[in-house]
Amino acid sequence: MEDPAFTSPGRFWRGNLHTHSNLSDGVLPPEEVCRRYADEGYDFLAVTDHFIGLYDFPIARTEGFQTPTFKTLLGAELHSGAMENGDLWHIVAVGLPADFAHGSAPHFVPVDGMESGPDIARRAREAGAFVIIAHPEWGGLSLADARSIDAAHAVEIYNHSCEVEADRGRGHWHFDRLTEEGRRLTLCATDDAHFRPGDYFGGWQMVKAEENTPEALLAALKAGHSYASCGPTIEDVRWSKGVVEVVCSPATSVSVQGRGWHVDYAHLDGGTEVSLPLLNTGDSPWVRLTVVGTDGTRAWTNPVWRS
Ligand SMILES: [Zn+2]
Ligand SMILES: [Zn+2]
Repeated sequence: MEDPAFTSPGRFWRGNLHTHSNLSDGVLPPEEVCRRYADEGYDFLAVTDHFIGLYDFPIARTEGFQTPTFKTLLGAELHSGAMENGDLWHIVAVGLPADFAHGSAPHFVPVDGMESGPDIARRAREAGAFVIIAHPEWGGLSLADARSIDAAHAVEIYNHSCEVEADRGRGHWHFDRLTEEGRRLTLCATDDAHFRPGDYFGGWQMVKAEENTPEALLAALKAGHSYASCGPTIEDVRWSKGVVEVVCSPATSVSVQGRGWHVDYAHLDGGTEVSLPLLNTGDSPWVRLTVVGTDGTRAWTNPVWRS
């Protein structure tokens, strides 16, 4: 049982997978969005504008804003079809081809006869994209909604803009229910930045790859070679039958989540290493863990499976 984010070769690259520009409802042009992330020290970025007719179905061509140390992946936030609550689907696709055929969403409200959310997600995955169920808590997704996106690779466990602006930034509930049902999904933290006050540089993905190229990053994301963070750095995680060993930035606690109520917990009091016995999660088919930093921010690893 191992987490390939920590056992595969390469190093971690920090990036944001969900961002908007003024090609849709963001404040800044794509070039300036890229410049700000590069200046902040990010290694990569996906600009993912709203893929609807109102904005002429934009896929921001960010290739020209790359530098030797800052790379971009093409992407979009796809919208088509209604969820159970009647609202339009939001599905992030990273690694889309620039000529991805647009759907039939004219604006932010579902209309009769449009392609469904699950269908546009499948089409994006078939086109090579890494598909993320966006902000499930903010969007009010039902469990049936979440289940229906069978093409998803990942769920946003944290969406910074939804946390800041709506206090509904989490995706834990949907993620854990799907995982309990056997879905082998990964989790991610994103900004969903529009460059409104405070909605950027708050959630990111740490992707393990041997080189910082769009191709290597995309392959690593699909393979689960990553973890999500809002602050803490996780240096190493080693799972074995009865214990998990964690090395991280100074932390208040590490907790392990498994099926149902099954959790394990260690208080670190600012420490950077722990050997945490798996007393309650030892029989769970899967486990994942959360590091809480000394400032209250969190980082999350992908689930590992016992079979
Ligand atoms: Zn959205
Ligand atoms: Zn968005």
